[in-house]
Amino acid sequence: MVARAAGPYLAALPHQPVRDRTHAHLLKELDGPLPEDGDGTMTAVSDLLRIGTRAATHSSGPRFFHFVVGGATPAAQAGDWVTSLLDQAAGLWLTSPLAAQAETTVLRWLKEMFGLPAGHGGVLTPSATFANLTGLACARHWWAGRHGVDVTADGLAGLPRMPVFSSGYVHASSRKALQLLGLGRDTVRTVTRDDAGRLDVAALDRLLADTGPAVLIANAGEVNAGDFDPVDEMADLARRHGAWLHVDGAFGLFAALSPHTAHLVRGIERADSLAADGHKWLNVPYESGFAFVREPSALGRAFGSWNAAYLPEPDDEFINYNNLGPESSRRARALPIWATLRAYGRSGHRAMVERHRDLAVRLGDAVRDSADLELLAPVNLFVVCFRYRPPGVPKADLDELNRRLGEELVADGRVYAGTTTYRGVVALRPAIVNWRTTADDIDLLVSVVREIGGRLVDRT
Ligand SMILES: *Cc1c(COP(=O)(O)O)cnc(C)c1O
Repeated sequence: MVARAAGPYLAALPHQPVRDRTHAHLLKELDGPLPEDGDGTMTAVSDLLRIGTRAATHSSGPRFFHFVVGGATPAAQAGDWVTSLLDQAAGLWLTSPLAAQAETTVLRWLKEMFGLPAGHGGVLTPSATFANLTGLACARHWWAGRHGVDVTADGLAGLPRMPVFSSGYVHASSRKALQLLGLGRDTVRTVTRDDAGRLDVAALDRLLADTGPAVLIANAGEVNAGDFDPVDEMADLARRHGAWLHVDGAFGLFAALSPHTAHLVRGIERADSLAADGHKWLNVPYESGFAFVREPSALGRAFGSWNAAYLPEPDDEFINYNNLGPESSRRARALPIWATLRAYGRSGHRAMVERHRDLAVRLGDAVRDSADLELLAPVNLFVVCFRYRPPGVPKADLDELNRRLGEELVADGRVYAGTTTYRGVVALRPAIVNWRTTADDIDLLVSVVREIGGRLVDRT
């Protein structure tokens, strides 16, 4: 039944509004009392399909430009179905050698794709938030060790605050990871040189000279304009001052795939830990993330739960991945990654990265060519940061106009894009990360923004 429904659903995806609000009433049909006896499999699943295919946000379609939401390649989606079909307990080698081998293989493939050293340890996670948690947990273990404490066994009690530095680009998920690790969300000190939040390298250099062991978070891909911290220079600082360098490369790590963008991530191979997402620019279904660490045993030391004498090495044949990350029981999330990399290879994924960049450049050009649109940042990657700025509207009214434009875009539903605050002004920041997106979808985005914007101005 599900397989039969999939064809028509996927075929309609490119032509549907992102969300059809006329189906909102269906959400109520999900609700109701706990069934005593149940309706049976066929009724339940056909209801779920009927409600789901209509009421879902079609964010896996080509015109969802809000946040950074990847699609699912056909192979990745099919691989995800296989994951559910096989229902592996993927925490231990014993329970699923298949899942463990697939995880080892995809981690190796990903390292190779990103140009990371083959000796790095790694683990799949549900998301980049969990991958940041994983990398920063290793950083915390290292840092506490520098103070003579085994934080895995003894916790943080008695230790000073862990110094963490980053640029203004630091993502909320890194803060969340620090919060969960008991280090405090606000422990990050941002060292910036302008109102965009760019890193002041010289100031960081001076600060590190006065600080003991510290952790640096490099943001390889910032969400407002797709800018990058200078990872290579941060790696220099980390080496000079004996600091731990963590790279949040949730989507930006994939810049390494193309010679046009690889310069943005120069130096990632020198980081101590890295985090990234599969469900963004790899176009693997949610939930998919991964973490890498330079010193493979760091994962076991931070996460090995049972004081195990046995800490797996990366080339060990029988890896228990639940010793290497924050989860215990977990699904075989390597399978969709394996499927998409096997299906399209490095060159297929490079082509997707380059096509998204080309589409972003196209959007940037359209913005530059429109008298009522203003480009706010250079187009680096796949994010285009701009605002609606029609002649005759006072500068003081532009923030409110753009905020309303963002709300109306989502309410309209033909395209989804959201607003942010960039250098003190409200801006749209569509992100192009779906393999289905075409030039027509980009042109539609521009025309819908101008149409709705024009309507808002006429109304006032
Ligand atoms: C999306 C994102 C995250 C968090 O990833 P999740 O998969 O949502 O947990 C972290 N950092 C950056 C830069 C991101 O874009």
